[in-house]
Amino acid sequence: MEPRTAIASPPEATVDPSPLENARRQLSSAITALGYDQDLHRVLATARRELTVSVPLRRDDGRTELFTGYRVQHDFARGPAKGGLRFSPGVNLDEVRALAMWMTWKCALLDVPYGGAKGGVTIDPRNYSQRELERVTRRYTSEILPIIGPEKDIPAPDIGTDEQNMAWMMDTYSVNAGYTIPGVVTGKPVHIGGSLGRASATSKGVVFIALAALRQAGTDPARSSAAVQGFGKVGSGAAAFLAEAGVRVVAVSDQYGAVHDPSGLDIPGLQDHVRRTGSVAGWPQAEPMDPDCLLELDVDLLVPAAVEGVLTEHNAPRVRARLVVEGANGPTTAAADEVLAARGITVVPDILANAGGVVVSYFEWVQANQAYWWTAAEIDERLERRMLTAWQNLLEVSTARGLTLREAATVTAVERVAQAHLTRGLYP
Ligand code: GLU
Repeated sequence: MEPRTAIASPPEATVDPSPLENARRQLSSAITALGYDQDLHRVLATARRELTVSVPLRRDDGRTELFTGYRVQHDFARGPAKGGLRFSPGVNLDEVRALAMWMTWKCALLDVPYGGAKGGVTIDPRNYSQRELERVTRRYTSEILPIIGPEKDIPAPDIGTDEQNMAWMMDTYSVNAGYTIPGVVTGKPVHIGGSLGRASATSKGVVFIALAALRQAGTDPARSSAAVQGFGKVGSGAAAFLAEAGVRVVAVSDQYGAVHDPSGLDIPGLQDHVRRTGSVAGWPQAEPMDPDCLLELDVDLLVPAAVEGVLTEHNAPRVRARLVVEGANGPTTAAADEVLAARGITVVPDILANAGGVVVSYFEWVQANQAYWWTAAEIDERLERRMLTAWQNLLEVSTARGLTLREAATVTAVERVAQAHLTRGLYP
């Protein structure tokens, strides 16, 4: 008798769409809403340039390991390409394509004069020493050197990279040019041309928008509760700024676990624990919880601030938050968006909610190019003004056109990028 097959998937199992499929679905809806033709659709759906590189690393023990790196430049119509560099084991070309496309819409929506790009290396940085990560960063930079530059494409940190990686990238680029060029990357350490306020910009932006959205829904932030998924560069700061604003942050998670306290977590205490142990898990001041359940807690505000594709058609029916503010890029699949909209749950899209990072990246680039530095107060005030102006504009477009916030955001951004293409014309 044939052995019973163990490899067939159960009939009800469905594969969640990839970030690229979600990004393309969002673009298609915007194209339909704007009445654009399929020729323009194809242009906007396709990256202008994609570079795949091999990144060989000499390990500390003398062995050689080979990684793959990518830089995708989705669009340049409104200015140089801009976007982060991700070091993560799940990085692949399609993911980088999706993230690059989202950067184009994000920059257009916030009206910063950039197109969109993204880079990535398929590596788990936790398994490598600092010296190895320096060699990977420098070799990757050297491989993509011809296509980056302050007027071409300006990388920044993303998942798995930080200001130290940006310092190595800036140094590699500058040494090759023969002089220091701080404008080639953003998110650098302040003492080598980084901007005050850049490190906290994404989380501050998330919180400016979350507070505005809570008030818009008639909820007093000081009487509201929140759950934050992810406790890295975005989630940790967002939880802290929410708590400072009086929001009761009842649960947070990271890739190792989650902690829960209905009366509100002591975020500075938890940040100390994470600095000491590397994870929120095991924090004695709160109850452990299943990280997946965090997304389904009965809270006013849910902030997914980890990775893409966490709110799916499978768990969206169980989400009980009234408001979702996307700290991560692409955390909600297109199918989950429909479920949440049908259930009356407001989703403030990533391309607005987490845009604080690229807004202050833009400020950093402007300052670096002018060699003139602004104060922390100036940065915060300009960031808040830009975020809240974009939010007000989004509410108006959403009401006027009868669109969800994501549809309104994508339509606004796609229209601006399309206008730039149409006005510039097609060469030759
Ligand atoms: N990686 C961040 C993002 O996804 C920041 C990009 C930048 O500052 O260029 O928006």
